[in-house]
Amino acid sequence: MKEEMEWHKKAKALSERNSVQMKSGAPPTLRLTVELVPKPLWGRSLAKLAPRSEWGALRQQVFEKYAGKCAICGATARIAHEVWEYNDAAHVQRLRDIIPICDVCNLVKHLGRTGVLAAQGEVVQSQAIYHFLEVNGCDLKTFYAHERQVFDTWHERSRHKWTIDYGPYAHLVRPDGDGTLP
Ligand SMILES: [Zn+2]
Repeated sequence: MKEEMEWHKKAKALSERNSVQMKSGAPPTLRLTVELVPKPLWGRSLAKLAPRSEWGALRQQVFEKYAGKCAICGATARIAHEVWEYNDAAHVQRLRDIIPICDVCNLVKHLGRTGVLAAQGEVVQSQAIYHFLEVNGCDLKTFYAHERQVFDTWHERSRHKWTIDYGPYAHLVRPDGDGTLP
């Protein structure tokens, strides 16, 4: 709780500094964004569906490609992050890429889960928000607008049935693994 307040204070101070800079330039493009997986698609990641050994090899390849650094902020990476894209007309979720990311970028990516874990005192949500401001060079207003938009999209997407396309990684998914868990 104390940590949460300290990071919130830091985020507010950074927000003020960044907002001064933002006034003199174009609106920042967000390098670090929140990516929420629609509820009907939970538990259907490649990490879960690919055979252990193949996933391990792919993970290693991805880390080597980026020399063990977070593809978003450059810190030490520990997580192989699946980058999914969504076709909202056809309701197809497609796996586009896998990149190494650090623990804090991961907290931002999965902000919904981060909120739950933060309520249990497991992680510090304000640290994730601070990181969002730091990487994107933006203010808190920009963060809250992005958060609202992403959660609205998540609610809308969660109402639908989705088809999963594993894209360039489709060969790693077992023939019976058509996106449904065994
Ligand atoms: Zn990072």
